[in-house]
Amino acid sequence: MNTTQYFTGPWREGDRCLAPATRDGTLREATIQRLSSNLLNNETKAWVIFSDHNKDAEEEEEDEKPVFPSSITAPKLHSPLELSDVDGDRVPYTINRYLRDYQREGIKFIYNNYICSRGCILGDDMGLGKTVQVIGFLAAVLHKAGTWEDIKNNRPEFLQSQVSSKQSKPNKVFLIVAPLSVLYNWKDELDTWGHFQCVVVHGLKKEEELARIRKGRTEVALTTYETLRLCLDQFNNIDWSAVIVDEAHKIKNPNSQITQAMKDLRCKVRKIGLTGTILQNNLEELWCVMDWAVPGCLGSLGYFKNKFSDPIEQGQRHSATKRALATGRKTVRALVRRISHWFLRRTKALIKEQLPKKDDRMVYCSLTDFQQTVYQAVLDTEDVTLLLRSSEKCDCQSGRIRRSCCYKMNSEGVQIKDLYFSYLTILRKVANHVALLQSTTGTSKKQEKYVSAICQNVFQNFPDFVRRCKYEAFEALSDPVYSGKMKVLQKLLKYYLQKRDKVLLFSLSTKLLDVLENYCMAEGLDYSRLDGNTKSKDRIQIVKEFNSSTHINLCLVSTMAGGLGLNFVGANVVVLFDPTWNPASDLQAIDRAYRIGQSRDVTVLRLISLGTVEEVIYLRQVYKQQLQCSVVGKESARRYFEAVQGHGRHGIHKGELFGIKNLFRLQTQGTCLTRQILEREGQVEAGVMTTRTHAGKEEEERKRISPH
Ligand SMILES: [Zn+2]
Repeated sequence: MNTTQYFTGPWREGDRCLAPATRDGTLREATIQRLSSNLLNNETKAWVIFSDHNKDAEEEEEDEKPVFPSSITAPKLHSPLELSDVDGDRVPYTINRYLRDYQREGIKFIYNNYICSRGCILGDDMGLGKTVQVIGFLAAVLHKAGTWEDIKNNRPEFLQSQVSSKQSKPNKVFLIVAPLSVLYNWKDELDTWGHFQCVVVHGLKKEEELARIRKGRTEVALTTYETLRLCLDQFNNIDWSAVIVDEAHKIKNPNSQITQAMKDLRCKVRKIGLTGTILQNNLEELWCVMDWAVPGCLGSLGYFKNKFSDPIEQGQRHSATKRALATGRKTVRALVRRISHWFLRRTKALIKEQLPKKDDRMVYCSLTDFQQTVYQAVLDTEDVTLLLRSSEKCDCQSGRIRRSCCYKMNSEGVQIKDLYFSYLTILRKVANHVALLQSTTGTSKKQEKYVSAICQNVFQNFPDFVRRCKYEAFEALSDPVYSGKMKVLQKLLKYYLQKRDKVLLFSLSTKLLDVLENYCMAEGLDYSRLDGNTKSKDRIQIVKEFNSSTHINLCLVSTMAGGLGLNFVGANVVVLFDPTWNPASDLQAIDRAYRIGQSRDVTVLRLISLGTVEEVIYLRQVYKQQLQCSVVGKESARRYFEAVQGHGRHGIHKGELFGIKNLFRLQTQGTCLTRQILEREGQVEAGVMTTRTHAGKEEEERKRISPH
């Protein structure tokens, strides 16, 4: 071990740097082992260990980053991407050779806004490489070479003079704000794509890290929304060159604490937002995200509603007049024009020919007899009757409707509004798996008490079930008799695992994942599991293992375990056990597998319980996607449904999709609602609904998935 000592700046133990060798004083790569400070003369001493090998010209190539040996694109490009002829800002060839044209365009888009001190939003679909575009941009403005040069530039300042450096090091520091679930993935990607001086500001050491950034050696700081909010003052003490916010759609509520903190963060008016799921629910979210990035670009919220969002939503009704329709379309075009300088969005269609095929199917599953009986028992309660009649005229002759008059609450004093959400929760649970009624997930504290009371009530009619759950709790749960979806799933898994396909199985509910896990254990299947409780650092490991393993062909994943870190390109079958209320979540789940790097065709199977509340939920999703397409996708508005996002209080909306009568019923006969709507419209437009309906034909399903 070679040891030497010299003075340091804002360094710390474990850092890699260059240091003069004790023998001849030449610069060699070393790692700092120990630092000690002398408070009297304000000096710091460092002990370093030199790396064993000496660098010569040939070895230098090993320091090129990134290197993807198995990459399909031959790394033949050896020229950088010039962004500006003045500042020498260029994306190094090491990165440029792996970029696709639209990614170069994205980097230029960010850069051009950056040099004008303007914010912007990169709204590309997931899987198009938003991370890489940001890293390319950072490498350019930080004057990275992507080679040994970068390591050479990373050394204590008093040593900088010993070797003349061709490139001046810009004194810039960038902040990346991301959800915790993807924070370490950002670190991982930055380390893969270049030699960046990164610091993660999170957890116990955050004060220390912030102090270190202030001393000025850091180039990129990574933090979470939460840490930023808590330490806003300290973050504001640093002169950020720009702030990059991943999953910027989190800044969608003008009044939330996160939005406020993000708006209070000081930097040189350069805010770069990344989102693949802008406009999940309404146009106001678009306003909020844009107003953060480029303050005032869409006027005040009131102005925006008046000028843009109201006319667009009016034009999307099924029953819209020709005039309203025309106004709606015109307004969409005006909005697209207005945001085009600061908002760049490309869709998956762009790389469609480079991706393998995606087969997207809805699998309609019949409820089991037992499930159906329980579902009906819930619908038959007094509370549901109260809900269904809540919009009728009150019988006291007041002229008001029942829920605002004599029937504001049930006999237990529970408000109609609370009943509404509680019963929806209960019906969703039954539609997925009866055993979920015994769990409190998806139930708020407030609901908990009477939800379990309702369940007790319902279960009184099923003493056998109650007894079974009591005495054989765990095994009873995975018995398919309690869930029609489980029946279908068993067949699906058997079929795909036999073919050695790799399956991702998504569920919203941790309890359901427990049930599924129990089933896997009982069947002796090799599987892995990833949910909200999995530590950020472990996630990457689980994903890597799943992608490369030959024996683990099934991974149970929580739909809510969001994040970039989950690149399950090894998977070629995606099963969504329960649909979400939010279309973006389902799409994200699918995109885990269907993205660049995927070489096999992907089959997506969404399990929907026939005739239940799930079907209605699913149609709402299609409606929301229609809304999204018409604004940010520059496509003409599609009008499938009567239902317009209502503004009724208590979340009770009218219309075909939002009507209460459609939610609180079980359709056991005839075709499903999905089919009815599609038949009435006489068309299934590609891109909106690329699904095949298997209306309750479990027999047919069995034939299709089992070759024997
Ligand atoms: Zn009344």
